[in-house]
Amino acid sequence: MTIASNLGFPRIGHRRELKAALERHWAGELDAPGLAAIGRDLRARHWKLQGGHGISHVPSGEFSFYDHVLDTACMLGAIPPGYGWSDGPVSPATYFALARGAQGLPALEMTKWFDTNYHYLVPRLHGGQRFALTENRPLAQFREAASLPLRTRPVLLGPVSFLMLGKTTDGSDPLDLLDGVLPVYARILRELAEANVAWVQIDEPVLALDLPQRAKAALGHAYAVLHQGPAPEILLASYFGPLGDTLATAAALPVAALHLDLVRGATDLDAALAALPAERWLSLGVVDGRNVWRNDLRATLGLLRRVADRRGTRRLMVAPSCSLLHVPLDLRQETRLDPEVKGWLAFAEQKLDEVAALARGLDEGDAAIAAQLAASDAAVRARRASTAAHRAEVRERLAAAVPEMETRASPFPQRQAAQRHRLGLPPFPTTTIGSFPQTAEVRRARAALGRGELTADAYERRVEGWIAEAVRWQEDTGLDVLVHGEFERNDMVKYFAEQLDGYAFTQHGWVQSYGSRCVAPPILWGDVSRPRPMTLRWSAYAQSLTRRPMKGMLTGPVTMLQWSFVRDDLPRETVCRQIALALRDEVLDLETAGIPVIQIDEPAFREGLPLRRAERAAYLRWAIACFRLAAGGVRDETQIHTHMCYSEFNDIIDAIAAMDADVISIETTRSDMELLRVFADFAYPNEIGPGVWDIHSPRVPSPEEMATLLQHATAAIPPDRLWVNPDCGLKTRGWTEVRAALANLVAAARTLRAAT
Ligand code: GLN
Ligand code: ZN
Repeated sequence: MTIASNLGFPRIGHRRELKAALERHWAGELDAPGLAAIGRDLRARHWKLQGGHGISHVPSGEFSFYDHVLDTACMLGAIPPGYGWSDGPVSPATYFALARGAQGLPALEMTKWFDTNYHYLVPRLHGGQRFALTENRPLAQFREAASLPLRTRPVLLGPVSFLMLGKTTDGSDPLDLLDGVLPVYARILRELAEANVAWVQIDEPVLALDLPQRAKAALGHAYAVLHQGPAPEILLASYFGPLGDTLATAAALPVAALHLDLVRGATDLDAALAALPAERWLSLGVVDGRNVWRNDLRATLGLLRRVADRRGTRRLMVAPSCSLLHVPLDLRQETRLDPEVKGWLAFAEQKLDEVAALARGLDEGDAAIAAQLAASDAAVRARRASTAAHRAEVRERLAAAVPEMETRASPFPQRQAAQRHRLGLPPFPTTTIGSFPQTAEVRRARAALGRGELTADAYERRVEGWIAEAVRWQEDTGLDVLVHGEFERNDMVKYFAEQLDGYAFTQHGWVQSYGSRCVAPPILWGDVSRPRPMTLRWSAYAQSLTRRPMKGMLTGPVTMLQWSFVRDDLPRETVCRQIALALRDEVLDLETAGIPVIQIDEPAFREGLPLRRAERAAYLRWAIACFRLAAGGVRDETQIHTHMCYSEFNDIIDAIAAMDADVISIETTRSDMELLRVFADFAYPNEIGPGVWDIHSPRVPSPEEMATLLQHATAAIPPDRLWVNPDCGLKTRGWTEVRAALANLVAAARTLRAAT
């Protein structure tokens, strides 16, 4: 019989109970036992619910109070000195100090989990590191479930992925530590076997990366060692992409089962069927764990049957492509979604129904799941036929977009001259990245508008008031290129998505980003167009208040794409081009209204890079083209800025240059201008604003500090191409710091002007 299986479930709870509990705990309002009890409650509820949806292999042990990579580091005793741990179980105080920092203790570095929007804590390791089992977490949670009584399948992050996701303080290769960590894994597995655990799931997501030979060898070695000792049957899980050239490595590992992501890695299937020995179980990840669209059950059954024809159904599992951590919990909570769109969606709970139906359909035939198949067919038909999702005017416009639209009228040197003439800026011009503090007052007014307690008119008067104040203050402070402050925006993506056709929004569609932080990405379901101007009103109003240049502020097409759930019935490139055309209209409207500088933010540009090197060039090609399509229509004397943060540029500097923005602002403070090296070595031709104020910290840097950073910058970049600005937007800061820091920033720029 085919097994309906799941790889991981969201932790946060239907009402974000985990978030609330964590924040109360951190505020000292909920003690550690209270927090632990809420964790137990959530786990029990989620295990039961998964069984209720027909899942027979329900995962356990993947629940986390903050992050599963941190949990693994703690379990293995890989805890840097100074955090209050010596041996035995890791206390909540140590755990949260590692996650978030504490008095004098920095948090572990945080970074993106593969190409998702989830962030994990990077294990801080060192050569010769010792490992020790502090607590067998998977076993503890297996027993916790068993007491309910529910049978679960413990989940572990595999040893090779754990090490490769870590960093060593001495620069040695984390894989050197493999022989140190394997005995701990062996002991965990032995204890699980002794507790009669039948199956264990070991995740090795590094299998989806380009793996050096050394990593492939490490995988072979690790599983050969673990195979020697007592252990439950091992399901080895790979996800987030095809195995490609690592398939041979994965297929040769001595494990009972292999999970394949057949949503992103469908190309693996034939090779996997050919390579896998008959006794190997195959877990088929056919329900998309990364996106919110309903599965086409009939098509998927076709694929499953193709596998069953080759291998029979005796050793098959059906599963989501990856953990469901990356999708919202339950579509049934959404009462305000357009019913048409809602009919095309499936969140975590609905995806489990799909998995169970597929397993049953495979074993018992279509008739056994007739109702589910009929509903799925109807949704597929409705989505294909929807005239809102497929709009002739959008398609025609896109088809008519010619390559010349992606290129500015003149090359940069001519544009630079025209812009200098028009703007008349001093050397080292000062500006900000766009947002000013989203104070409690600003958020209260928006909430009151949402509840209908404030009329649209009254709300707009308030926004105008904040803009007027901000403009006056920027003039008084001596900033050169002003911004309106983005007070009207709830979020840099949602604000635009709400005004474009083709997007929908959830009420409870939260997905964990890190720790207690969740995001509810908009759902991009239909052809995109801009029914009316989006920012024009505010930028024009702000410009009317001052003779200094006002900078219009837009979120770029790649970032709009990257931070949404994107339709899966069109290539991402096509969707991105639709957004680019809508933004192009906005850019041209701003220009016509006399806005001389327009910034198109692309903080997510780098995030979009595919995991595999071979796919990167294609992504960069269309991402650059989309940016240029949005920006390319303006006259020479209109200055286009872009902004990127949390980014490294070394491997994409040629792409950044190809975007051909007149000015790019980047986050550089924490790297002490190191990031500029890449621009210097590449001889980046356009203007650059390296951030001189780390806006993630409340600390106000002195004029001298900022001037020193700028001095360093002049060593890398010709001074006449440098701008002076903070690292990023100021929405999370308070006005007191903003006033002080920007005054210092202007002073620093003046120091440099005086010196040249
Ligand atoms: N313009 C945006 C702001 O200032 C940019 C935000 C970002 O880069 N993440 O808030
Ligand atoms: Zn930024």
